[in-house]
Amino acid sequence: MRYDCIIIGGGVIGCATAYTLAHCQLRTLLVEAENDVAMGTTRANSAIVHAGYDAIPGSAMARTNIRGNELMEGLCRRLDVRFERIGSLVLGFSEDDLSTLKKLYERGVKNGVRGLALLDREQTLEKEPNLAANVTGSLYAPTTGIVDPWGLALAMAQVAARNGVEFAFSSPVTAITRKENGFFVTAGGQTYDTRTVVNAAGVYSDIIHGMIGGDSFHITPDRGAYYVLDKSQGKLVSHVIFQCPTEKGKGVLVSSTVHGNLIVGPDAVPQTDRTDVAATAESLDYIRRTALLSVPGINFRENIRNFAGIRARGTPDFIIGPSPVDPRFINLAGIQSPGLTAAPAIAQEAAAWLRMAGLKLEERDDFIDGRTHIEFRRQPREVQARMIRENPAYGRVICRCETITEGEILDALHAPLPPRTVDGVKRRCGTGMGRCQGGFCGPRVHEILARELGVAMWEIEKDRPGSQIALGETKEADV
Ligand SMILES: Cc1cc2nc3c(=O)[nH]c(=O)nc-3n(C[C@H](O)[C@H](O)[C@H](O)COP(=O)(O)OP(=O)(O)OC[C@H]3O[C@@H](n4cnc5c(N)ncnc54)[C@H](O)[C@@H]3O)c2cc1C
Repeated sequence: MRYDCIIIGGGVIGCATAYTLAHCQLRTLLVEAENDVAMGTTRANSAIVHAGYDAIPGSAMARTNIRGNELMEGLCRRLDVRFERIGSLVLGFSEDDLSTLKKLYERGVKNGVRGLALLDREQTLEKEPNLAANVTGSLYAPTTGIVDPWGLALAMAQVAARNGVEFAFSSPVTAITRKENGFFVTAGGQTYDTRTVVNAAGVYSDIIHGMIGGDSFHITPDRGAYYVLDKSQGKLVSHVIFQCPTEKGKGVLVSSTVHGNLIVGPDAVPQTDRTDVAATAESLDYIRRTALLSVPGINFRENIRNFAGIRARGTPDFIIGPSPVDPRFINLAGIQSPGLTAAPAIAQEAAAWLRMAGLKLEERDDFIDGRTHIEFRRQPREVQARMIRENPAYGRVICRCETITEGEILDALHAPLPPRTVDGVKRRCGTGMGRCQGGFCGPRVHEILARELGVAMWEIEKDRPGSQIALGETKEADV
């Protein structure tokens, strides 16, 4: 079996590449170390579609940020992914900040960001009455948006799968051998033959590159933690609220999410461990204190979850292009923020590089684009009544906080790339994302999964391997 392309990594970058290549007459395989897509940085970030005023003009970051932002709305509409263009404000609190805002404005104009405006104090407070009273001005960017990051990656992967892209989960790549007409890629105990490779392995992309002898970049992990607050706080601001960026990054933001919560974070903590996603007390304390400088009324007692994600730092710009070792090996590496925003544009550039490497990218005439994601709670009453009549499973509410029905879980289980874990259901349907964080619905999702997959309860994992919730059957004698 010979592939035209093997994509390593099923984050938003790998999934966007799979979606783009699915349009062409190619044999493509995506190999992912974890048991689902979007298990790395793609599931743990701010979920902002950045406008593009931060990146240095002329950089790959600037180019793909602007293009990705332009592509995002249409892509999300086609794939039924939640996206809202709510705009953003970068706040200034001092004379120094105002000059930073001016520089950002000029950089944004150079990058081609549309609609940027410098606002004075009154204009800023008119847009956002809950800001700190000592704000002195802001940079307004109407093209900033918010998106469902794992929903986006999953939707692109599902459409790719429906159009013939193959997916191998729980298949960590352990070796790559170069040969005359391509590569042998060993993953999950199998060896695959391929003409080209796309390296979209996130914080591990330097290690993957090293497998063919590449040492042109090194990734330094950098952790950012968050608060997610209950929906009671979700409407405190109506734009994404940033502070002035520092050399550490875009700083602590406050924003509503597409799910109606308030997200607050991140910080930036360099580390050596690529797997340590602890949201430490120290990080959370810093984030809380910093966010209150922008929006003093945030009620942190309404916190429902904390998490952290790892940035693939270490390179000043995104690395998009062929490895110096082999032109058929395309690196999509060092994709830190705004990688989520840039993903659709990065994927297009990856396809162009694959063409340069000799792949024929002929469009398929039978490609089926688009995807529908039915959310029961968002349907009008009469549609809900019809859905329940046609399938009573829509009448059984499994997640009370978010009003997610059994029918939606069954839909996910019968869609391409079905979930195998309780958190896989969460990412597809939204169960466990509400105030009780799965305390009520978790066991019921667990039961449905075991029933539908035809396996014992103790075979179902919550998330990663080894996260079984049940260990075995209790016998009467044990009770
Ligand atoms: C704190 C934080 C905040 C951010 N905020 C934003 C934001 O608001 N907006 C924005 O645009 N961007 C943001 N980003 C950046 C964005 O999240 C990333 O650029 C994007 O998710 C990177 O996607 P990826 O596919 O490259 O990496 P990942 O999502 O990490 O995917 C890489 C995949 O490769 C797999 N993999 C690794 N090694 C192997 C192997 N050996 N074999 C097989 N598979 C392997 C991993 O399991 C993983 O699934 C943020 C990042 C962080 C950390």
